[in-house]
Amino acid sequence: MFSSSFQELTVTLSRRLSSPALISSPYRRITCPALEMVLCFCGRVAIVRTAWTSLNPGRRFHACPKQGSRCGFLRWIDPPMCARSVEVIPGLLRNINKHEIANSKLMEEATKWKKYFIASWVLFLVVWLVSS
Ligand SMILES: [Zn+2]
Repeated sequence: MFSSSFQELTVTLSRRLSSPALISSPYRRITCPALEMVLCFCGRVAIVRTAWTSLNPGRRFHACPKQGSRCGFLRWIDPPMCARSVEVIPGLLRNINKHEIANSKLMEEATKWKKYFIASWVLFLVVWLVSS
């Protein structure tokens, strides 16, 4: 009695485990396409690069690792971007670049003023030591 119900349960479980429903369950094996080992046309392990063109901003792809190679291997990892992303992301990137340039100019200015500040205190100290 017990063994037959156990067998039924085992059969049910094995059917469930092999059913496609488990594949879409949250417990399925998660694979990352960027971590796959892909060989390029010249037999090298392809590397993951990120495109920053206006049509594919931030889209990753596998490419030949050899610089200047005529291999020409390119396989997209990420799906094509929607039209809205293609329209918005380049503008955001331009804004980020503009702010990074402005930030680096401000940092240069801050460094320059910090040097003037230290020089003024050294000068003040020298004048004070000489006069006393
Ligand atoms: Zn190659």
